[in-house]
Amino acid sequence: MNIILLGPPGAGKGTQAKRIEDRHSVVQLSTGEMLRAAVASGSDLGQQAKKIMDAGHLMPDDLMVEMISERIDQPDCKNGFILDGFPRTVAQAEALDRMLADKGLKLDAVIELGVDDQVLVERIETRIKETGDENRRSDDNVETLKKRLEVYHAQTAPILPYYREREVLRTVDGMASIDEVSGQIAAILEEGA
Ligand code: AMP
Repeated sequence: MNIILLGPPGAGKGTQAKRIEDRHSVVQLSTGEMLRAAVASGSDLGQQAKKIMDAGHLMPDDLMVEMISERIDQPDCKNGFILDGFPRTVAQAEALDRMLADKGLKLDAVIELGVDDQVLVERIETRIKETGDENRRSDDNVETLKKRLEVYHAQTAPILPYYREREVLRTVDGMASIDEVSGQIAAILEEGA
């Protein structure tokens, strides 16, 4: 089963991806986590990524497409994967379609977690208060979040009509409780199973 989780930063994609991972023996592929690992390793890619991520901007499409393509080829993706944070532009969505066709794979579901901007700002403020400085992502601050939301609306939200036209998009209420959101996602995945 191959799934995309879409939604603005802070919508809970990572939390839900981990729950789907546990339930369906598929792997979460988070491009944000891959980039944070590159930053931690101090590689050239990591140094480039840190500046872009801290500014709330997006990494170049070709680089991200290559990163995901290589990751999908790993043996642990054999049962399927949940894309979390990818695609983030229409160009990435188009490249993903071509890539999956080349690999003989298909998408089973594209699920959007819908959350209002104001709720996201409140969530991030709470997360900042609750997380110690040493554990906090360097892009976890209100200023960067606001930039990331702007970028989401300008560059990522246009993916929604892209998938809606292809009749694969399902939207769940990302403002419901974590368990309710998981339940809505589980129901969608069972329908398709
Ligand atoms: P995330 O953990 O998904 O919120 O991603 C954190 C940051 O990594 C984003 O704000 C971007 O700077 C970068 N990033 C992650 N995924 C992508 C992607 N698919 N395309 C471009 N940039 C990305």
